[in-house]
Amino acid sequence: MKFNNIDFDTYLKQYPDEKGYFGKYGGSYISPELQVAMQEISEAYYTICKSRKFIDELRRIRKEFQGRPTPISHLERLSNKLGNVQLYVKREDLNHTGAHKLNHCMGEALLAKYMGKKKVIAETGAGQHGVALATAAAYFGLECDIYMGSEDIKKQAPNVARMKILGANVVEVTDGQATLKEAVDAAFAAYSREYKDSIYCIGSVVGPHPFPMMVRDFQSVVGIEAREQFVEMTGELPDAVVACVGGGSNSMGMFSGFLNDPVDIYGVEPLGRGPKLGDHAASLQYGTEGIMHGFNSIMLKDENGEPAPVYSVASGLDYPSSGPEHAFLHDLGRVKYDVVNDEETIDAFFTLSRLEGIIPAIESSHAVAYGMKLAKQMSRGSVLICLSGRGDKDMDYIIEKYGIR
Ligand SMILES: *Cc1c(COP(=O)(O)O)cnc(C)c1O
Repeated sequence: MKFNNIDFDTYLKQYPDEKGYFGKYGGSYISPELQVAMQEISEAYYTICKSRKFIDELRRIRKEFQGRPTPISHLERLSNKLGNVQLYVKREDLNHTGAHKLNHCMGEALLAKYMGKKKVIAETGAGQHGVALATAAAYFGLECDIYMGSEDIKKQAPNVARMKILGANVVEVTDGQATLKEAVDAAFAAYSREYKDSIYCIGSVVGPHPFPMMVRDFQSVVGIEAREQFVEMTGELPDAVVACVGGGSNSMGMFSGFLNDPVDIYGVEPLGRGPKLGDHAASLQYGTEGIMHGFNSIMLKDENGEPAPVYSVASGLDYPSSGPEHAFLHDLGRVKYDVVNDEETIDAFFTLSRLEGIIPAIESSHAVAYGMKLAKQMSRGSVLICLSGRGDKDMDYIIEKYGIR
């Protein structure tokens, strides 16, 4: 399928180019020492990902350890309530550890093993990426250093406990605001010191090349499974596909399966409390081109051109940019990016729980809220939503802040 002069039959093979660019977005803007390390990961990945042994092992792990394929569920009661449009969800909440993040963490840790590394290193904000990576490290017998700001350590006690139980070393970062940004800096600094024996594992389709490509490839299992399952269930393709966008990994995985199809694709960003800078994290909606964390993309900037403070009720969506491939698909118009606010999200969280017996993560509730809106606008057809994770982690927070609705 051709769209805006891009041939989507061959798109996934052509993008990114060998320097890691999706159009003008992506690339690798890092220090020369880190460049050497990223080059090593890149070369290893291009070779190893084509090897039969690696592919077979990853397939076996997905089936026997992660519990894949995850199913698609038809939301019959919700669909009936909204009208004639049929809603479906791809159940990444049923992937081991309760979210899609393990898909790329298992891939990254398996790569580390093939490269002969002893340790995986990463930062974490809310702790979700840290927990997924600690799980992968335990599975493969790798050491695991997770850098986390002391403010986040205080707020995220259950995830800190999970990481420690899994045997990870949680390294407290006390610089500056002691949150995610400082944790990223500390983890990168540690990696430049230790790259001979370790590999850095990024938690989304962000960062320097090859991570936006690698994480997309590892997450593409979501879209490949979903397309096949949906066609098997209904005999046709969905009319629309929806996923929430933080850094953009669950959405890129889901979208990659449908880019070459006559399907409308929607990426949903968090509008939070409203459109004022600082009240949301809708980078593709309100941001401009810029470089941060080693890549060129669309980002939210403050008056000095630095990454702006952002807010979302979902800690996993609270990031001032999105992966370079999203910026590219946004400019091409192949994916439409839109927003839902906190209120609509919380409403969707309770609606899905009550009508379907599925408690969604607050991040995923953004996609559900948008899918519900779409269903009301369309007179017929079907919408497939990526349910990126389960909401157990969010229950205490929601009850405390919003009460039972
Ligand atoms: C981390 C997270 C997200 C956001 O990350 P993406 O890279 O945008 O997918 C979404 N949903 C859940 C459940 C998460 O844990």
